[in-house]
Amino acid sequence: MSVLPIQKGADNPILRKKGAKVPEVSKALKKLIKNMRETVKAEDGAGLAAPQIGESLQLCLALIEGKMTVLINPEITWKSDETDIEEEGCLSLPGLQVAVARPIAITVKFLNEKGAAQELKLMDFSARTVQHEMDHLNGVLLVDYLATDHMIPQNEQTA
Ligand SMILES: [Zn+2]
Repeated sequence: MSVLPIQKGADNPILRKKGAKVPEVSKALKKLIKNMRETVKAEDGAGLAAPQIGESLQLCLALIEGKMTVLINPEITWKSDETDIEEEGCLSLPGLQVAVARPIAITVKFLNEKGAAQELKLMDFSARTVQHEMDHLNGVLLVDYLATDHMIPQNEQTA
């Protein structure tokens, strides 16, 4: 197993590209997943998406209920209307913290590393982490949330 180098930078083309659907859970994919597990552990991350280690695939790892979980071809099938705002960081954008509004709960469908279909309802930190990693699979980075419509002023009264 090996720790893989992390792709960095808001303008990095591999981080800006939508990942391709994983066609099958092959031996090579399983090896990649092992190396991603090793890498996220070494970096002490809450998750890691394949584009972050230079593989443009719909594949990510995310800490779900304290367990590092592999999500292949994930799809969000439901989002709560209720959102909350938390600061997030990213291994690909060291030193940056961005307050991001996201739905507090989601349902996500995916294949696990054995290729079996899974569906999970997630809340709070797990839901946020999966949404952050899935952003990576679509070429979205934290800096994209710096747009004004996500900057909700605190304590602002509606007149
Ligand atoms: Zn990230």
